[in-house]
Amino acid sequence: MSNSLIQGSYIIAGLAFILALAGLSKHHTAKRGTVFGMVGMGIALVFTILGTVLAVQQQLDLDVPGVEAGTVLTTAAAPSWAVIAIVVPMAVGALLGIVLAVRVEMTGMPELIALLHSFVGLTAVLVGWVSYLEPGHVGDKLHYGELFAGVFIGAVTFTGSIIAYLKLSAKMKSAPLALPKHNLINLGAVVAFLAVTVWFVILPEDQHLGGGGDATLGLVLLSVMTLIALLLGLHLVAAIGGGDMPVVVSMLNSYSGWAAAAAGFTLENDLLIITGALVGSSGAYLSYIMCKAMNRSFISVIMGGFGSDGQVVGEAKDYGEHREVMAPEVADLLKEASSVIIAPGYGMAVAQAQNAVADLTGKLRARGVEVRFAIHPVAGRLPGHMNVLLAEAKVPYDIVFEMDEINEDFPSTDVVLVIGANDTVNPAALDDPTSPIAGMPVLHVWEAGQVIIFKRSMATGYAGVQNPLFFNENSAMLFGDAKDRVEDIIHNL
Ligand code: NDP
Repeated sequence: MSNSLIQGSYIIAGLAFILALAGLSKHHTAKRGTVFGMVGMGIALVFTILGTVLAVQQQLDLDVPGVEAGTVLTTAAAPSWAVIAIVVPMAVGALLGIVLAVRVEMTGMPELIALLHSFVGLTAVLVGWVSYLEPGHVGDKLHYGELFAGVFIGAVTFTGSIIAYLKLSAKMKSAPLALPKHNLINLGAVVAFLAVTVWFVILPEDQHLGGGGDATLGLVLLSVMTLIALLLGLHLVAAIGGGDMPVVVSMLNSYSGWAAAAAGFTLENDLLIITGALVGSSGAYLSYIMCKAMNRSFISVIMGGFGSDGQVVGEAKDYGEHREVMAPEVADLLKEASSVIIAPGYGMAVAQAQNAVADLTGKLRARGVEVRFAIHPVAGRLPGHMNVLLAEAKVPYDIVFEMDEINEDFPSTDVVLVIGANDTVNPAALDDPTSPIAGMPVLHVWEAGQVIIFKRSMATGYAGVQNPLFFNENSAMLFGDAKDRVEDIIHNL
């Protein structure tokens, strides 16, 4: 196998990744996009392994266990070493990945994604460190710069993703944890990183590993920079509040892409550079779109709440009494309605109520009721969560609307069914400047004739903020598991 064949396969894999991203941008092409992604990754894996075997065969000075350095490996010896060095760890990783993917609930996807981002970050750190410990680039200042950038982005991604995982899985408080003068701390860390990088790059050759002299200072600088980056990652994400976590997940996705690209430069692997840049730039664009949708400053979020004072907390307020209804009353209300909007949220995913909701939709449409869905950009726990569930339940795409497309239609709607949504329908985001979700656009469900809220209790949503919607005169609570209650309504229709 020649190098040009491997390079050609990398181009095909890169194209497949671009087609995957293009496919994933629309509902009806998303499946095709996923297939392109899988094909691209398959090609990338197979040819990277074959390429490594080829490199082992060709290299004269690899430190292969049991083989004296400088020996030309025979074709027979090289693959057996490669099997141990590559295929075994990959098989263990693949097995772990399959077990995790099979066991994860749809609602647990964001935390799994955050955990996977942390692996990418850790890998970039290890690649950088190994490339320094195994000197092949002594005196190459460009390489030192790339190495530092890779380790820095990787370390920030690693600890930032771990905090995101802890927050998303509720193992850590989702409220913003801001140290006094946290903006200055972040700025200081970036300045310190730049200073240490310049110092490392201009260090005389004999003070670097493999340069022939005492390399303590080189190692200390690399260690100090890694520590700064690890702490910065912790601090950046810890400073971001619960409601802004969706943006953080896509931001860490972007960071993980740049970390992979940096590792690609260190390893001189073109495919890793291309793939990392694709992930990095698409993740950055997704973060930008989500920031716009949530009325957040992009710069503020990537800088870990930069510009906020970190003091915003929702106060517990007395909004009065709430009203309760039972399923038969809701069924009667729906029988009389001519237009209904369903606003689903995280609770629909927890209850796995999407099929029952689709069933109810079909029954109402059969009675001549106009039924539409209103999807908030951050409803659920991952971008597109509600769209995926509704598509799975075969709800027609043409009755599913994004927030901006439907928000003006609530005043002319008879009944809104809020199924397991809370933060995304909270009017405090518009009315209360002290709320942690202040400024976030929400679905204006309260403008409809009647609002029925499906949930199990009066508990708050993900951002931990009370919802005054529940106490409005035209609101009523239908308590219980969303799937059970929707089925009760269908039974009473
Ligand atoms: P919320 O998380 O605000 O609220 C969900 C509600 O569902 C809860 O109040 C809960 O109330 C109810 N619920 C839970 N289980 C059930 C059940 N079995 N039956 C009925 N109700 C149930 O949901 P939203 O979708 O409105 O908002 C999403 C939040 O998550 C936002 O704050 C967003 O920023 C954040 N987020 C979003 C991400 C994304 O990418 N989309 C990623 C990370 C965070 P009760 O316990 O009383 O039943």
